[in-house]
Amino acid sequence: MKKFFLSFLILTGIFSFILLAPSCTKSPGSNAPNRALIVTGQNNHSWKISSPAIKQILENTGLFSVDIAQTPEQGKDMSTFKPDFSKYQVVVLDYNGDSWPATTKTAFENYVSGGGGVVIYHAADNSFPDWKEYNKMCGLGGWGNRNEKDGPYVTWKDGQFVRDNTPGVGGAHGKQHAFRVTVRDTVHPITKGLPAAWIHGQDELYSLLRGPAENMTILATAFADTAQKGTGKHEPILMTVNYGKGRVFHTVLGHASDGDNPAMTCVGFIVTLQRGAEWAATGKVTQAVPEVFPTISTESRWPLFRPLTLQEILSNLKNYKPGDSRSNLQDLTNYIRANYDGGEKFAKTEKSLLEFLSGTGTAEAKNYICHELSIYGTDKALPILKTLQKNEETSEMARYAIERITGQFTN
Ligand code: ZN
Repeated sequence: MKKFFLSFLILTGIFSFILLAPSCTKSPGSNAPNRALIVTGQNNHSWKISSPAIKQILENTGLFSVDIAQTPEQGKDMSTFKPDFSKYQVVVLDYNGDSWPATTKTAFENYVSGGGGVVIYHAADNSFPDWKEYNKMCGLGGWGNRNEKDGPYVTWKDGQFVRDNTPGVGGAHGKQHAFRVTVRDTVHPITKGLPAAWIHGQDELYSLLRGPAENMTILATAFADTAQKGTGKHEPILMTVNYGKGRVFHTVLGHASDGDNPAMTCVGFIVTLQRGAEWAATGKVTQAVPEVFPTISTESRWPLFRPLTLQEILSNLKNYKPGDSRSNLQDLTNYIRANYDGGEKFAKTEKSLLEFLSGTGTAEAKNYICHELSIYGTDKALPILKTLQKNEETSEMARYAIERITGQFTN
């Protein structure tokens, strides 16, 4: 049983959050100060998953109202695709497909060089291998027969960025896996205040990208471990490019997938996208880094691309059994810590936890909540804990919580 307690303590102890409310607000619509346009409609990825997700991620900041411009399908007449970029502070490319009409390309170049913001998202850096100006905006790109003709590889080695003109293919990734992202520029508005390193949810680790790499600042890298069929190098993950008066934020993260979608629901992906989009649109970042940002050793996710409500977290936890993913447990711990005020706010949280303990959730879920109550609970929890103490499956954790809340130990 000691081991049991120990695992709870380790599980919860590895989080260390300052006690603040989540910074994420939800006020999309016409009051938002910036307009964003997502360009999508063709991709070798599930753009029907990623584009609505990006729209929600940006709108959740309260800083953007977001439109989506959908191109014709692959192979269809593209001549009518002429979005009015000039109406937007930032254009987000979730696009990897057919070439645009020459007038649309020119309009986009003029928009960016004139001061427009751009976000290059994941496979958008695969797109338009033959469009010179677009590749300048990306800084680095991959696939599409890119090779040494397109520019150098750029990696982090021995404390600095190294450009490598060795002939070879542009663009690769190993197996999908969770990996550590390391911030290399701690003063840039996008990365300022982020942990020095953090775990990103399972994703493709883009590698061997190559391109003009002009006016480019690499903000973060990740080590592509050969054990995951990676390059054994520190590859660029987050970048900015200055193109004329325009600002480009380029994130290689966020491979969209059905189901859990671990890359896009990673708080690290979401928050860097939100901050990168604001910087591209305005040149500044006003958003606070949320307390639940992943750490050097722990992942953090927002399954709905925003912080879950307590009711949603408890609902996900209801059927928890040993062996299930611990992310639902982590969500609860993150919520309690981020919202703990020692007063009225926690009283509401505690009321919901106690209702859960009176309900039909699994014993393992209730035990986890008993553990949280052992840290944060008040006398209000005691009657229900005493009831749980009579049930064999919950008696140990209930006793533990009672002892820690009352300070009275029975053995
Ligand atoms: Zn991908």
